[in-house]
Amino acid sequence: MIDELPEPMPDLDSLPFWEGLKANELRLQKCSACGALRWPARAICNRCSAFEAEWIACREDARIASWIRTHQVFAPAYRDRVPYVVVQVVLEAQADIRLIGGWQADRDPVYREAVVPRYSKRPSGTVVLDWAPREP
Ligand SMILES: [Zn+2]
Repeated sequence: MIDELPEPMPDLDSLPFWEGLKANELRLQKCSACGALRWPARAICNRCSAFEAEWIACREDARIASWIRTHQVFAPAYRDRVPYVVVQVVLEAQADIRLIGGWQADRDPVYREAVVPRYSKRPSGTVVLDWAPREP
């Protein structure tokens, strides 16, 4: 199955994030001590060093921080998909949380434009995070 897209490999720290995508929710880890969001999920808060955390359905509003049009075929399954756009977004809920995802629009992204998540279900059942322009 060389032409299948590479699949995410959730671990104990990231599993709730991937389960959230399947439920069409952007779930992130939130520090129980200081309230900071943690991304990527981790055992200890990088702001206050607390261990305790909970998973929340995060506010989804975000803005384009950066983007790139990829022409390189990094895996055989992408051979017929290049070029494609990958975006980095910054969450409005916390400015130091930046997420990577695919782009769903017929045009290029614009720096700082408002975007919303798209929960893209693959034939395998895996849901991945894409982004699309926020409609006015
Ligand atoms: Zn903390």
